[in-house]
This record gives sequence, C-alpha cells and structure tokens, in this order.
Amino acid sequence: MSRYLVWLRADLRSIDNTALLAACKEKDAEVACVYAITPQQWQAHDVAGVRVDFELRTLAVLQKTLATLNIPLLILDVPDFKGLPKALAELAQQHRISAVHANRQYEFNETVRDDAVASVLENSGITLTLHHDQCAVPPGTLFKNDGGFYSVFTPFKRMWLARLATAGCQPQPAPQKRPGKFTESDAIPDKVAGFFSHVKPETARTWWPAGETAALNRLADFSAKHLNDYLDKRDLPAEEGVSRLSPYLAIGTLSPRQCLNAAFNHRARHGESAGVDQWIAEIGWRDFYKHVMVGWPRVCKHRPFKLETDPLPWRHDEKEFRQWCEGRTGFPLVDAAMRQLQQTGWMHNRLRMVVAMFLTKDLFIDWRWGEKFFMQHLIDGDLSANNGGWQWSASTGNDAVPYFRIFNPVSQGRKCDPQGHFIRQYLPELSTVPTPSIHEPHGHEPEGKAQAILFSGYPLPMVDHRMARDRVLAHFKDLKSPPARL
Ligand SMILES: Cc1cc2nc3c(=O)[nH]c(=O)nc-3n(C[C@H](O)[C@H](O)[C@H](O)COP(=O)(O)OP(=O)(O)OC[C@H]3O[C@@H](n4cnc5c(N)ncnc54)[C@H](O)[C@@H]3O)c2cc1C
Repeated sequence: MSRYLVWLRADLRSIDNTALLAACKEKDAEVACVYAITPQQWQAHDVAGVRVDFELRTLAVLQKTLATLNIPLLILDVPDFKGLPKALAELAQQHRISAVHANRQYEFNETVRDDAVASVLENSGITLTLHHDQCAVPPGTLFKNDGGFYSVFTPFKRMWLARLATAGCQPQPAPQKRPGKFTESDAIPDKVAGFFSHVKPETARTWWPAGETAALNRLADFSAKHLNDYLDKRDLPAEEGVSRLSPYLAIGTLSPRQCLNAAFNHRARHGESAGVDQWIAEIGWRDFYKHVMVGWPRVCKHRPFKLETDPLPWRHDEKEFRQWCEGRTGFPLVDAAMRQLQQTGWMHNRLRMVVAMFLTKDLFIDWRWGEKFFMQHLIDGDLSANNGGWQWSASTGNDAVPYFRIFNPVSQGRKCDPQGHFIRQYLPELSTVPTPSIHEPHGHEPEGKAQAILFSGYPLPMVDHRMARDRVLAHFKDLKSPPARL
C-alpha cells in the first residue's frame, strides 16, 4: 500500500486542495499531512503575531476535519527553512512515505526552500511534487504576445478572464476518506514563542473565526447580501461593503476558485452585475501580483519594480514614522485607519491606499518601512499583495498612472467617510466633532491652532499637504529618468 505525505503551507483547507487531492488519488493510499512551524523564518519574514494565532486556530479546526477522513495532521518544529529538508526527509523515512505533495508558493525564499527539500528527498528516493493551486490562473502560464509577463493590470485582466472562460476554475471537493491511517496526529500548539498578537483574543475570534466552515459561511453571506452592491460600497469603510475574506485567502482556508465560483454562480442566478464584475477583478489583482512576483523576483528583495525609481532619496525619519504607525498624524482618516489595523489586524483596502500614499507621498518616507510595518500587523499579510499595494502607492510599482497620482488625505476622507462614522468609531477623541468639521477638526490655519485644545489632545496635522505634494513631485522630476507610463 502506498503512503503519501502532504506538506501544507499556505493552503490550510481540505476542500479544493490540489496537493491533497493528488495524494488521495489512489483509493487505498494512506495519507498524512504535515505543517512546519518555523519561528525564526517567520520573524525574518515579519509575520504578524495575529496571523500566527489565526494559523494555529485554523490548524486546530483543520486537524479535526482531516481526522474524519483518516488523515492525521503532524507538526514539525524547526527554526527556519534551512532545517526543513533534513526534518522532512527524516519524517518521510520514518513513515516509509513514497512521495510528498505540496502546493507551490511563489515567493523567492520559498522557491529556494522547495528546491532544497526536493533534492534532499530525492537522495532518499522520495519525490516532491509541487502543484499549482494558489492562483486561479497559475503564474508563468499567461504571457503577452512578446512572451513577457504582464506588468499592467488591465491587459492582464482581459487575458486572465479569457483563460478562466476557457480553462474554467471549478473547485474540487474534499478527498474521500482513507481506508486507514499509519500514525496519530500531533498536538497543535496554541502559541509560538516570540509571536504575540497585538489584537485582543476576543476581537480576533469575533472578527476572524477560524476554519473552512467559517470562511465558506462568510463567502456565502457576502455573496447573498453584498456582492451585488460591491461597486457602490467597496470604498466606504463605515459600510459592510467588502468581503473581509483576505485572511482566509492568505493562509489558504479558502481558494480563489471557491471565491470565483461563488461570483460566477451569483451571476448565473441573478444576471450581470457591475458589483460582481468588480469583485472578480479584485481576485484578479490577487493573481496579478503573484504573476508579477514570479516575473520580477526582485520585488521579493526590497527592490522597486520600476528600477529607475531606485535613486529616490526616501526619508527615514523615525519620529514621523512612529506618528504614522500610532495614528497620530492629525489627519482623521489616516489615523482612524491605523487604529483599525492596531485593533483588528486588518484594514479596509481604500484605507490601505490612503495611509500608504500618505506615508510615501506626504511624508516621503521609504515605502519599505510601511511594507514591513503592515506585514508585522496584518492578519492577511501576503508578500505579493502587500508589496504590490505599497509599490503602487509609492509610484515605484505597477500603477499604469505616472508618479503624480497623489491622494489628498482630507478629500479622501470626505469621499470615503462623508458622515465621519468610521472616523468616530476609531477616534473616540473626535466623537463630539460636528460632521462638517470631522475631516479637518482643527479647521484651517490660523484659527485651527486654538481649536486643537478642544479635541482632547488630537494632534494638529503633522504636514502641510500642498508643500508635501510639491516636495514629492520635485523628487520624482529630479530622477535622471523619471518613471514613464507602464
Ligand atoms: C498598501 C497595501 C497593502 C496591502 N497588503 C495586503 C496584504 O498583505 N494581503 C492581502 O491579502 N491584501 C493586501 N492588500 C490588498 C487589499 O487591500 C486587501 O486584499 C483587501 O483589503 C482585503 O479585504 P477584503 O477581503 O474585504 O477584499 P475584497 O474587496 O472583498 O476583495 C476580495 C479579495 O480580492 C483580493 N484583493 C482585493 N484587492 C486586492 C488588491 N489590491 N491586491 C491584491 N489582492 C486583492 C483579496 O484576496 C481579497 O480578499 C494591500 C493593499 C494595499 C494598498
């Protein structure tokens, strides 16, 4: 009888898991899953404590689901990726495993790790098979006419949708129950030393219940109640307009195929809808940034996508950076957004753009500082989406619009939170500010200074937006070759 091992990484689910299904293809094969806790590697990758907590909670649920299929879930505890080849090979030999299956990860360090694991396993006569699973359309399979990767989203989306129409993206069911099991499951720890979640446990559990059922319920609820209105509401953080599925997609409790399938079914039942189309496009952005990461691996190495922006003299002002991190910039929408991140481990997409644009354009602080801070605090921290979002905001990345896209944090507030409901929720110190003043509680200079006293210490704006705008434009113009339209 054959024995297979499935190495789970960012695919913590039993349904529509390509590697798990491949391992369970033979009816009689015995299968176990393994997950590796690699704390030093996670520290090096800035994995947030709240995300580690979410993964551990998810593994505990998944272990129970897998047990019903006679598939034990084992845990390896090794400090970093370097220790993995030996640890996995020993585990495989101990259980007389003939092949290991895993779903591909596309980040640079992860691909180096997988090469090393494959070669050590091979020395023991065990194959490692890597499957495409993380994207609806696998990276490295969608190219421009000239054979290159797409660097601009709109043409990418066109081809991506065409590919989905021909190749389909139907999710697969969970595998069939195994006839028996060759070992018992390991206990799932509830903590990993060195990782502390900045989000209160009760908040984390309420906002982010763990497991496939929770993820599928959220997907069903979003499809039924909000998908149709997505286009109108997706930029309003005070409304329930977005799915909040990103943490589940980031650790793979949910697959992009399950999301797309829900959207396509909605369209089939209720007809065309701009909201559905837009949401499908967002899943496309997720794929797009993974394709970019494979095409230009330098984005995994702190390098700008647009190399001509490399000489920009980004500022490294610790004090101003702290003010931004702590939500004390004096711009209510920016500060409320940063408090949302601190309190929930998540931030609304429009606000991620606003705060990233503020850090990089208004403060002209290095986008890499913001990228790192986000990874350290996001429950959905994902290298490609996070890097893509930061570089887009800093005009060093895949924005087809040139560098003069600069958000005004006050007018963004007026557009996205017109009544100030979101701001008041996260900035209680502004709860009594009347709506017409909520986006500029201190008013305009010079009377503004006097008003500052009224709002329980809420800071004055830390920067003059017009001056900041001129400064950043000047820096981009000073480049020997300013970045061109993509
Ligand atoms: C500076 C910045 C940093 C970001 N960091 C991350 C990150 O670390 N992890 C992450 O998953 N997303 C990141 N995003 C993308 C986006 O903000 C989140 O995916 C989104 O807010 C998640 O909320 P949701 O699940 O309600 O999204 P919905 O609006 O419901 O969209 C559905 C799904 O589509 C995907 N998606 C949506 N927008 C984007 C996008 N712009 N890029 C890539 N995928 C997208 C997500 O998987 C999301 O769950 C970042 C964006 C910016 C501007």
